[in-house]
Amino acid sequence: MDYEVAGTLIDEDRLARRVAELGKAISVDYNGRELIVIGILRGAVIFMADLVRAIDDNVDVSMDFMSVSSYGDSTKSSGVVRINKDLDNSIKDKDVLIVEDIVDTGLTLSYLRRVLMERGPKSLAICSLLDKKERRIADISVDYVGFDIPDLFVVGYGLDYSERWRNLRSVHSVEPTIEA
Ligand code: 5GP
Ligand code: MG
Ligand code: MG
Repeated sequence: MDYEVAGTLIDEDRLARRVAELGKAISVDYNGRELIVIGILRGAVIFMADLVRAIDDNVDVSMDFMSVSSYGDSTKSSGVVRINKDLDNSIKDKDVLIVEDIVDTGLTLSYLRRVLMERGPKSLAICSLLDKKERRIADISVDYVGFDIPDLFVVGYGLDYSERWRNLRSVHSVEPTIEA
């Protein structure tokens, strides 16, 4: 089946306003501290680029990235996660913030949190642009959420369907293309 971009779920202005609010909240919570922001490749890249610029310079921000993939097809998560690219730097005794594009079943993040906690960070928090709460399987608490969304497959602002549409400036749902 082929898919096409359907309606706009969250437009550019709402994204920008919410990212500014999240940056402000993070700035207050980590005031005067050093914060390692970890982006989960590739979906979180666009959000993270905007988010770190919304954090005040009273927080000493550095960035690192991880790439993980879950086995199974591209629209579902199996809960079995493989690390394709690990962090470049140690997080021992550091304040760490994981930045994700979307939490769906929560299986990816619950695995990641377990792996990163074993490395002894001072603290570990999670920020996700989107949250599909209805689909949650793993018990995972997300500290900073941009938007709660219904159970739709979404693309844009970093999120892809088979690597397409990450560059769209808004978040959209996709729908199957019906051939005549
Ligand atoms: P989870 O392990 O929470 O089920 O899945 C998380 C990952 O599945 C996300 O980081 C994302 O890569 C992918 N995912 C889940 N829902 C969506 C969606 O609606 N759109 C896109 N593009 N990816 C999704
Ligand atoms: Mg992701
Ligand atoms: Mg993807």
